[in-house]
Amino acid sequence: MAVTSKRSATRCVEGSIPIVALAGGVGGAKLVQGLASVLPAQDLTVVVNTGDDEVFHGLYISPDLDTVMYSLAGLANRETGWGVAGDTFSALGMLKRYGAVGTWFNLGDKDLATHLERTRLLREGWTLSQATAHLCEKLGIQVSLVPMSDQPVRTVVETEEGVLPFQEYFVKHQCRPRVKRVRFEGAKTARISSSLEPAFRKAKALVMCPSNPIVSIGPILAVPNVRSRLDGFKGLRLAVSPIVAGQALRGPAAKMLQELGEEVSCVGVARRLREVCDIFVIDMLDSDRQQEIQALGLDMVVLDTVMNSDEDKARLARQILQVLRDRLA
Ligand code: GDP
Ligand code: CA
Repeated sequence: MAVTSKRSATRCVEGSIPIVALAGGVGGAKLVQGLASVLPAQDLTVVVNTGDDEVFHGLYISPDLDTVMYSLAGLANRETGWGVAGDTFSALGMLKRYGAVGTWFNLGDKDLATHLERTRLLREGWTLSQATAHLCEKLGIQVSLVPMSDQPVRTVVETEEGVLPFQEYFVKHQCRPRVKRVRFEGAKTARISSSLEPAFRKAKALVMCPSNPIVSIGPILAVPNVRSRLDGFKGLRLAVSPIVAGQALRGPAAKMLQELGEEVSCVGVARRLREVCDIFVIDMLDSDRQQEIQALGLDMVVLDTVMNSDEDKARLARQILQVLRDRLA
């Protein structure tokens, strides 16, 4: 990787670095929260996966945007990883009484308010980017949260039990069916959200958060003109492995990698992301894999990447900033 030429192309003044982060849901939200706690708000733009989006009860639901949004607003339910902390489920109970379809998808009462308001805005002609910015503003979030595209991209999982829309695979079937292939419907014709353009121009670093490489980072990379921003990016591109010690800390990433015939390790993730990444961060528990990462042509950094507390999130974000600063200096 031509890290050296990129270094000289991007000089950074002391302190903050303008960053574009790529994120899915839970894993992404953790590092985003850390980054938001150490960067001035104007220096952080988060591109969020929308391949998980789905309509339930006529409402537009964007699970990864919501997870990141609730995390930044201090509203996230840490136990479940989705929804609002302390939420109640009265509306869902009533929907079940009516025999409504899709009640296997859990929706809390406060969470429903988000989807009601977002859907109203979309029906009035707002883009998803505009609706997201509005909801974030009302929740007091200052960093920019932007869907990867305003056009629909839908992750579809081809399994041995049939073709499943992502939420059916993930929630209804709890990731049990064996995966044969994952595709992103609509990705080829989707365009980058226009509100991301200035952020990509200003950014000196891209950070791929430790999100599922297949169904969280995958859909973002599948949008051709998002991908081209990454390919042509002049600054540094850093990714954090979501696979630690051969396991996913949460969710189906390990199972999916294995079923798709890829190595379930930080090295497997690095192989997937090497084309769009210069610096690859692996966990301390994987320090014996350093040489394999370097052999892929990647600049490799070992850090404690497991984020169990707000302090962990801020610490990892600070360490990543330091890594970027050192290389931009
Ligand atoms: P989802 O959309 O809610 O499934 O969430 P993401 O795709 O953003 O994140 C899921 C990935 O995050 C999984 O592969 C986890 O292994 C990873 N992950 C979760 N917490 C952590 C953490 O603290 N550190 C690291 N390195 N990875 C994490
Ligand atoms: Ca997700």
